[in-house]
Amino acid sequence: MPAPPEAPDLTGAGPAEVLRRIFGYDSFRGSQQDIIETVVEGRDALVLMPTGGGKSLCYQIPALVRPGTGVVISPLIALMQNQVDALRALGVRADFLNSTLTMDQRRMVEQEFVGGRLDMLYLAPEALGTPGVQQLLDRGKISLFAIDEAHCVSQWGHDFRPDYLQLSMLHERWPDVPRIALTATATSATHAEIATRLKLSDAKHFVASFDRPNIQYRIVPKDGPQQQLLELLRTEHRGDAGIVYCLSRASVEKTAEFLSREGIPALPYHAGLDAGVRARNQSRFLREEGLVMVATVAFGMGIDKPDVRFVAHLDLPKSVEGYYQETGRAGRDGQPSTAWLAYGYNDVVQQRRMIEQSEGDLAHKRSLSTHLDAMLALCETVQCRRVQLLNYFGEEAKACGNCDTCLTAPEQWDGTIPAQKLLSTILRLHRERNRKYGVGKAVDVLLGRETDETRRGRHQELSTWGIGADLNEAQWRSVARQLIAQGLLAVEGDYSVLVLTDGSREVLGRQRTVMLRTEPKRPSKSRSRSSASAAGGVKAAPADLDPADAPLFEKLRTWRGATAKEQAVPAYIVFNDATLKQIAARKPSSLAELATVSGVGEAKLARYGDAVLAVLAE
Ligand code: ADP
Ligand code: ZN
Repeated sequence: MPAPPEAPDLTGAGPAEVLRRIFGYDSFRGSQQDIIETVVEGRDALVLMPTGGGKSLCYQIPALVRPGTGVVISPLIALMQNQVDALRALGVRADFLNSTLTMDQRRMVEQEFVGGRLDMLYLAPEALGTPGVQQLLDRGKISLFAIDEAHCVSQWGHDFRPDYLQLSMLHERWPDVPRIALTATATSATHAEIATRLKLSDAKHFVASFDRPNIQYRIVPKDGPQQQLLELLRTEHRGDAGIVYCLSRASVEKTAEFLSREGIPALPYHAGLDAGVRARNQSRFLREEGLVMVATVAFGMGIDKPDVRFVAHLDLPKSVEGYYQETGRAGRDGQPSTAWLAYGYNDVVQQRRMIEQSEGDLAHKRSLSTHLDAMLALCETVQCRRVQLLNYFGEEAKACGNCDTCLTAPEQWDGTIPAQKLLSTILRLHRERNRKYGVGKAVDVLLGRETDETRRGRHQELSTWGIGADLNEAQWRSVARQLIAQGLLAVEGDYSVLVLTDGSREVLGRQRTVMLRTEPKRPSKSRSRSSASAAGGVKAAPADLDPADAPLFEKLRTWRGATAKEQAVPAYIVFNDATLKQIAARKPSSLAELATVSGVGEAKLARYGDAVLAVLAE
């Protein structure tokens, strides 16, 4: 990154002016304005807002409006450079102090801070515990403390960082400096814990809706998942950056190889890879355009790449919390994005077995089971996915029109009789043949399929032999999967054999009916993209861009890619997709006109304005 241009003079500027001149946006989103005013006035704030909601502006603008340096505590050392680069590109004087700096670099940053020449300083939480850093902070002027990823203070949460506990001292040591704590974690337990542990007793609380309207949720029955994924990428996400989550390291490797073979640039990421390879792949994913990261859930915490266009799960997540966090990495820039999950019989069996074999006491297993049940309920629901997701986090919502069940309503059917046939087959195999079997054998019996094993076991003599010819194999597996999801059938042991539950007995005893989901025949039609692009090699036009403007958008993207490379920053730091699309659509012919495009602030206008106009004039 070149040295920041002359920092714009913001003396006397209020939040709205900073928003416009520095960030190039014309209005605040949601409760940003309230939050910013609270901090500008010197009060504490606690902010719960989903990923992509616009949390950064909530401390960046007060840091620019108030005199002194805004100190940002962030646990993600690996990402500080990116955050600082993004701010410098806007003409903001930002820097960071962490263990990656040399002594000389450190001394320089310290001098800038003490001399009052920094708008913002990023620090790792562990640094604050050292006397050196505390004394340094005493020698400069601090405008505010921003505590990012504040849920890391929660001891029961999944991202606990012991160093966060000491952040309560900020208030004791610098009582006059306002603090703003921010997180994208939605649960009320974490919310309360943050307030207590950080001693934010007088803070104003801001809780935003956790809806991510630009993400389209889709859950499809698994049927050759690699091909399904390829189809999704080719028809809807050609040339897009995205994340593919797999359960195991082996399937990460296999899937990444498969995509690469099919001409889709993909990188693997899992804990088994050498740390250097991991860091390189992560940095390429952040900096280059259109890469697909195939990863285990080890990947993604704190990744704030705004233009991730899809998150695909090839295996069932263990909980709705995990699913929401992982899918939330798509579309931080507010542009249309896809969350896609392929889910099948084996997923349910595998997850149930992992819980059964997991270490830990009964209470722990029960908790894992409850989490899995909620995830399964989401997969099998016939109502709006978003309604179900938000309800899970305690929020009311209306059918969204942007999920698979809203777009193509699945039907429910009374599956009581097929359920009875399947359960009774399992019961008979167990009782009359004295053996427990997996789903394959039960389906052989239902379909009356002769194999060596059915002959040897004389399965033809069972009274349920061949009574299931009205459904095919895939449909029977779907029945079994849904029965397991509903707790009406269970999986047991190393060989995943099926066993009856109390619920199964109620079904067999005709004491309860079983409602099942019919998968819609055609894959749900999503945001339509030009059909020509599905076959050809060109990238599809983004859904919200007039196809006529697509070639210009592509030209701008090429210019952006080259510029970013030259300056060694991620492409989105030059301009994000939303800004580039607006430029392509409005084709400004002067700098003054270009300045009115959202995302074009003073610094970027000065640095890139002429180049953009030249691309447009070509
Ligand atoms: P979060 O940290 O909550 O995940 P960010 O702060 O990264 O979200 O913001 C997400 C995206 O939205 C960024 O690209 C940011 O520039 C943009 N953004 C934030 N506030 C506004 C606004 N008021 N107008 C337009 N874009 C905004
Ligand atoms: Zn919906």
